[in-house]
Amino acid sequence: MKRIAILGSTGSIGTSTLNVLSRHPDQFRPVALVAGSNAALLEEQVARWQPSYAAVANGHSGHRFARGAATLVEAATRDDVDIVVNAVVGAAGLDATLAALSSGKRVALANKETLVMAGELVLDAARKGGGELVPIDSEHSAVLQCVAEQRCPVERIILTASGGPFRTWDAARVASASVDEALNHPTWSMGAKITVDSATLANKALEVIEAHFLFGLPYDSIDVVVHPQSVVHAFVEFPDSSVLAQVGFPSMELPILYSLTYPIRTADMVPRRFSPLDAGSLTFEAVRHEVFPALGLGIAAGRAGGTTPAAFNAANEVAVAAFLERRIPFGRIAAVIEQALSRHEPGRADALDAVRAADAAARAHAAEAI
Ligand code: NAD
Ligand code: MG
Repeated sequence: MKRIAILGSTGSIGTSTLNVLSRHPDQFRPVALVAGSNAALLEEQVARWQPSYAAVANGHSGHRFARGAATLVEAATRDDVDIVVNAVVGAAGLDATLAALSSGKRVALANKETLVMAGELVLDAARKGGGELVPIDSEHSAVLQCVAEQRCPVERIILTASGGPFRTWDAARVASASVDEALNHPTWSMGAKITVDSATLANKALEVIEAHFLFGLPYDSIDVVVHPQSVVHAFVEFPDSSVLAQVGFPSMELPILYSLTYPIRTADMVPRRFSPLDAGSLTFEAVRHEVFPALGLGIAAGRAGGTTPAAFNAANEVAVAAFLERRIPFGRIAAVIEQALSRHEPGRADALDAVRAADAAARAHAAEAI
C-alpha cells in the first residue's frame, strides 16, 4: 500500500489523481490533501477519503482546515507519506518539491514550473535526500515509458504539441484573441494557466526545459513538433536510428498512474482504450515560431541556463495572470515576457536565494511592462 499526498487536490490534475486512486484502493491511499483555496471541494474530498491531514494553502478563514503556504511542505514531508503528487500550479510548488525530495520521497511531478525555476536545485535535493522525481506531464511520461526498458542512451527526443486553439489562426487574429477563445483547448481539459500556456506555446518551452533536466539531454537534442490530434505524446530516437513513440487518446490518468507505479505497470480499467481506427489520421506540422514567439523565448532562456529560466517562468506567470484578468491582450503575453527577460541580470542558479531573487525581479519587471 502506497500512501499518497496530493498538493493541489482540488485542481485538474488533483481530481484526476483521486479518480485514478478510486480504481486502485488496494494499492494506494490518499493520506494528505492540500487545496489551493477551494475549501468546499476539499471538504467533500475529506468526507470521501478520510485523509489523516487536510489543509488549504491560501485563501481565507471560514473553514476548519489548517491554512497557509507552509502546509504544502508539511504535507509533503509527513512520515506517513510515500509519494507526493505535486499538482500545484506555478512557482508556489517549489518548496514542497524540494522538501519532499530532501526527505527521500518520490515526487510525482505535474508542477513543471518547479523544475524550470530551479532544475539544478531540484536534482540536487533528490541526489542528496534520496528522493526520486517522476514526471506526470504526458510528454515526459511518454519519454520515460519509451526509455524505461532500453539499455541504451537517448539520441534525441521530440515533444509533440497540440498547437493549441490558435494553431491555424493568422498572427493578427491571434494577437487579439479573447480569454474565452484561449481557454477553449482543442484536445485537453486543464487548469486555466496551463491552458493559456498551451495557446501561446509557452507550455512547450517549459516542457523543453523540463525535459532537459529530467533526461539530462542538451537542448540541441530536444525538438518540438505540432501534432493536432494529441495521440502521439513523444518520440524518442536511439543511436541506431530506431524511434519509439508512446500513443493514446489524450488523458492524464495514465501518466498519473504510471508516475505512482513506475517502473512497473499496473492493470487499469480506463474509460476509453486506444483504437487506431478511432484515432484516424495523425498529422505533424512545424511550429509557426513567428506567430508563437513565447516558445522561442523560453527555449532561449533554457539554453542561457542559470537563473534565466526562472525569470522566464516568473514573467510568464505574471503575463498570463494579467491576460486572464483582461488587463493585457493575448498578443502582449510574449512581449511582456521578452521585456522582462531583457532586464534580467543572469546569474547562477545553485542557491535558492538566487532563484527567488531572479523570480521576484522578473515578476516586478513583467508588472512594469504591463
Ligand atoms: P489547476 O488550476 O486546475 O489546479 C491547480 C491546483 O493548485 C488547485 O488545487 C489550486 O487550488 C492549487 N493552487 C493554485 N495556486 C496555489 C498556491 N499558490 N498554493 C497552493 N496551491 C495552489 O491546474 P492543473 O491543470 O491541475 O495544473 C497543475 C500543474 O500540473 C501545473 O503545473 C500544470 O502545468 C501541470 N500539468 C497539468 C496538466 C493537466 O492536464 N491539467 C497536464 C500536464 C501538466
Ligand atoms: Mg504536457
